[in-house]
Amino acid sequence: GTKWISGMIQRTAIKRTDYRPPPAGQLLVPGVCAPPLTHRTLYGGKEGTDTSFYDNSVEKYAQMNIRTVTLQEMMDFGRDNSKGDSAKLVSSANFLQHEMPIRLARRLMDLQLLPFVVVSNPHIHSVYRAYHTAFNALRKMKLVRSVEDNLEFTNVLKRMVDEHAPMVTALANGVRECRSKPMVGEKLEMDGFLDNMLRSRISRRVLAEQHISLNTRREGYVGVICTDLSVEQAVRYNVRRTKDVTMQTYGVVPDISIEGDLDTRVPYLPAHLDYMLFELLKNACRATVEHSMQSQHPGCTPQALQMADTRISLPKVRVRICDGSDNNVTVKISDQGGGIEPSMLDNIWRYGFTTVVDPASEENDVFGLSSALPDGPPGAMNLGAMIGGQGGGFSTTADLRNPMAGLGFGLPLSRLYAQYFGGDLHIVPISGMNLMIACRMVSHRAECDDNDLQRVGRL
Ligand code: ADP
Ligand code: MG
Repeated sequence: GTKWISGMIQRTAIKRTDYRPPPAGQLLVPGVCAPPLTHRTLYGGKEGTDTSFYDNSVEKYAQMNIRTVTLQEMMDFGRDNSKGDSAKLVSSANFLQHEMPIRLARRLMDLQLLPFVVVSNPHIHSVYRAYHTAFNALRKMKLVRSVEDNLEFTNVLKRMVDEHAPMVTALANGVRECRSKPMVGEKLEMDGFLDNMLRSRISRRVLAEQHISLNTRREGYVGVICTDLSVEQAVRYNVRRTKDVTMQTYGVVPDISIEGDLDTRVPYLPAHLDYMLFELLKNACRATVEHSMQSQHPGCTPQALQMADTRISLPKVRVRICDGSDNNVTVKISDQGGGIEPSMLDNIWRYGFTTVVDPASEENDVFGLSSALPDGPPGAMNLGAMIGGQGGGFSTTADLRNPMAGLGFGLPLSRLYAQYFGGDLHIVPISGMNLMIACRMVSHRAECDDNDLQRVGRL
């Protein structure tokens, strides 16, 4: 095989740059508008059918080892110009040609191992077909040897990044439909499967976008990695977004303070940090406003309070940036929003779990969760509205009636992002009423595609 990262790579001095988030609603790497990627457009074959389930090549590839890379390795590789731009592109393309089919095959394997009731669902089946098409297209492409070959390869990658964006919606819809099935629905355990699918999707997008933007020069960036990201500026940007959406939702907004090691800088993917900070800050603001309203003006709606020009006092949300050694940064977000009942602590990590009650939706409680938890707060599951795909991240707010909360993807997906390069997300209840969320970002560990070959390893 081709060696992707070769030789000793000279570390260049990291240049300090300002944090510039990607424009909202745009891919980190602008995708090309291209005809849909099907068997026919790619290699003139017939559209995939159910026979693809018996395709031996999926098994063959799924058993191969993936090569994980660290953020540092991606940056070193991107900076290294010892062999020239074209050799670098070819080497990077070859790495992806090796990795992508394996990573896709593992997800195809995961899908094959789902219960029939799930895999036969039209939404889930459409994901299977899209991934199978991509798997075959990538595996059958000739080895990239020149910049011209790479152009063709990169176009296929761009199309995949674009076309796989709605796959998250399809997955979410499929999971919701399956979970609402009588008898079997409640018994379906799909969180491990969704973890794997979404983590692998993050990894494929990072690798693809890194390759696509490898030779695009952008101050302070190597590909899509911001080499010297100011955590404070990222927090400030997301505090602004959070305040806007909280104001729109409730007409009031708590103060948010930013303290700690304000000059902390880390190499990181801005899109990933933005996703986590926005979701966690929204959660803290929602808890603060709803809890304060309930304790100070029980039964009152935010709109009624606004009309009556009644003031409510809102305790501050605090963000503390803690710079540890070795690129180990923790952002702690604490609020006094009433905390989470101990009995609910496991549920909040489930995909689709939310305590938002949407009176307009008949789909509330399709998971039967509130009846399963008679003493807990109402547990509505609302997976369907989830939207896919924004520069390696997921937009969970566009097109929604309630951009504040209600999808139940904020916590589990933020944890997935945090864990992606070896960090983590922890909830620390403090004295019942308060809650602290510690989001640790590290970048020295290799990215991972799936959880220790959760499924394939068992075969
Ligand atoms: P959503 O915000 O769409 O409901 P999340 O995954 O972000 O989904 O959160 C799931 C649930 O966890 C929320 O509905 C809420 O009940 C609870 N939660 C999250 N963060 C907090 C917090 N800071 N304080 C109290 N409860 C919280
Ligand atoms: Mg949330």
